[in-house]
Amino acid sequence: MEKTLVILKPSAVQRALVGKVIDRFQQKGLTIAGCKMMQLDESILREHYAHLVDRPFFPSLVESMTVTPVIVMCLEGVDVVAVVRAMTGATNSRVAAPGTIRGDLGMSGQENIVHASDSPESAEVELKRFFKPEEIFDYKTITFTSIYAPDDLRAKKQ
Ligand code: UDP
Ligand code: MG
Repeated sequence: MEKTLVILKPSAVQRALVGKVIDRFQQKGLTIAGCKMMQLDESILREHYAHLVDRPFFPSLVESMTVTPVIVMCLEGVDVVAVVRAMTGATNSRVAAPGTIRGDLGMSGQENIVHASDSPESAEVELKRFFKPEEIFDYKTITFTSIYAPDDLRAKKQ
């Protein structure tokens, strides 16, 4: 099943929003396939935010992402990349729609609580960047058949 990378950023850790954000993903019906705390550094951030290294705010982004450890998560579900991006909301929390994580919990463009992979292709690359294969678990919860009907598992993005 599809997997995506979520990072609970230092803004979530500092503001004690970790439980609240994880709760949203669990309530939605997503499976936590992997979860750990880690301290990021500039070298992993230069890879992870390669599309932003030349932007003037990059040093501030590195500072912001290294100020505390982060929680990295591998979430699993049907169409999970698109589902989690929709739950995350627009990059700037001030314009992110109410009901989204950023829209409900943040006020900043940079201190925006979560990272979420933006495509299945980048999810695959990003998960390899943050997790060893043995840190991702393959299991099904007993609620699985209440979360998905057989049709959901056959046809995606309907
Ligand atoms: N960011 C920032 N200023 C900007 C754009 C982005 O500080 O003008 C930060 C912000 O924390 C964002 C991260 O860089 O989440 C990655 O940017 P991206 O455009 O990939 O946004 P995302 O995919 O996180 O919505
Ligand atoms: Mg991005």
